Amino acid sequence: MSNNNSDNSVDLVKLLYKIVIQYGIYTQKSNKNLDNYISGITHALKKGGDFHRLMPDLVAMSKTLSHLIQAKQLATINPSIIEYLMYRVGINADDRLNQVVHGLETQEIKSNEQLFTELDRVFFNAIAPVDSEKGGHHQKQLLFINRLAPLLADSNIPPKYKRQYSVLKKCIDNGNAGVDGYDETIEKVISFLLKIINHAQIEQQNIKGILTKMCDELILIEEKTEQVTVENQHSIENRTEFNQELNIQVNHLLENTHKASELADLQHSLSQLLAQMSVKIETQQLSEELLHTSVQQQLLDVTEKLQATEAEANSLRNELELAYNLALQDALTGLANRLAYDQRIDYENKRWRRIRHPLSLIVWDIDHFKKINDIYGHKSGDKTLVSITQLIIQNCRQGDFVARYGGEEFVMLLPNTYAEQAFVLADKIRHLISNANFNANNETVQITVSAGIHQFVVSDTCESAFEQADKALYTAKMNGRNQCKISDDLTTLNHLE
Ligand code: GH3
Ligand code: MG
Ligand code: MG
Repeated sequence: MSNNNSDNSVDLVKLLYKIVIQYGIYTQKSNKNLDNYISGITHALKKGGDFHRLMPDLVAMSKTLSHLIQAKQLATINPSIIEYLMYRVGINADDRLNQVVHGLETQEIKSNEQLFTELDRVFFNAIAPVDSEKGGHHQKQLLFINRLAPLLADSNIPPKYKRQYSVLKKCIDNGNAGVDGYDETIEKVISFLLKIINHAQIEQQNIKGILTKMCDELILIEEKTEQVTVENQHSIENRTEFNQELNIQVNHLLENTHKASELADLQHSLSQLLAQMSVKIETQQLSEELLHTSVQQQLLDVTEKLQATEAEANSLRNELELAYNLALQDALTGLANRLAYDQRIDYENKRWRRIRHPLSLIVWDIDHFKKINDIYGHKSGDKTLVSITQLIIQNCRQGDFVARYGGEEFVMLLPNTYAEQAFVLADKIRHLISNANFNANNETVQITVSAGIHQFVVSDTCESAFEQADKALYTAKMNGRNQCKISDDLTTLNHLE
């Protein structure tokens, strides 16, 4: 039996060795403080060392484990609760918060009682009076609950948590401590607060999303506004001011969103700022519209004025053109007048000198025209003048210039024409006229014309050239009329050629 017993105890010791070694391997690296003991103990046991020699290490390890077990119970206290409490009581003291968190991590805070005392000290700056060891614990818990209760103000509770809140409130108000004191109530309050924090965080995210979307829309509006009113500097100044204000509002809104952890706060600032912004947007839109309308009206006015001015300018130009043409036209025959001749001869004189093409001039005079007037009357004389004009024009070449020089005298400028060629043309016309039957008071009338021809020479001026032609005309008249005569100065002509 005794052999059996000693065999059994040897097996048990072996099994315990085995379990301690296995557990040591299993829990390695789970905790720094434990690791030192575990590696030492497992190493010694593997080598066959006995428990008695390991006693101090095993005792130290046991103590560390009991600390860890206590800390595990504290793990239900979420650090974000501490953060939330800090915010609610308005304490801006990260170092104090860190003290509590550090206390939990290093296991200086070993019990809930200690935690409550620490939190109470940090958050409410008060340490509850301790009557006795047991009663003091419960009292601190109750004090902590009572301090937490106002944080759960009715207005801060989202509607979906109202029912849960009223149950919890009853529980706090009753103040019934169970076997474990108020631990259960504290747990409930804490988990409830966590839910609210979580809810507020989700709400914040949603609101941030809405704000981002709104900002994008505002940017779109801004872009559109920019396109519409780009033409007006005044509008640009207004809009810049408006955009700056809008940016301030949006930034303010985002700032508030960031700070506020209460949905009610957020809703309040959001609705307030949105209302302000919408008023600003409406005002801006209105002023843009007014401005746009006024700019449109101004443009319309300017366009109308421009059109009127253009029409006026056109009519003036037409009138001027007409007046100019009239000024250069002979009223009776429609031919160019003396003024037009003066301009043209000046141009042709310069031209022939430049290109050295011959230029000839013919001066016409109706023979004994005075008699026509005298016999048939002035009106018949006029008609005859018009008929002769038509005959001359019809037989001219393109590019020849014909003018009524005055009375019954006409002049012709023949560019690119020698005196002899001009003579041929003039004589042909003279012949046609002398053979034409003119009508005067239903009578057939014979009319003849005489012509003097001159070809421009280098020494000529416009006046001297005319004088030469006129001299030739005079000679033709003197020689019996109804004839054409070239001016005498042919030597110069030959020289030119
Ligand atoms: P010639 O030239 O052959 O020497 O004789 P003429 O009778 O033509 O000479 P003169 O120059 O002396 O007379 C010109 C006349 O022409 C005088 C004028 O009554 C007439 N006359 C000039 N202009 C016009 C006109 O526009 N209409 C009419 N009907 N007659 C005009
Ligand atoms: Mg005459
Ligand atoms: Mg005459």
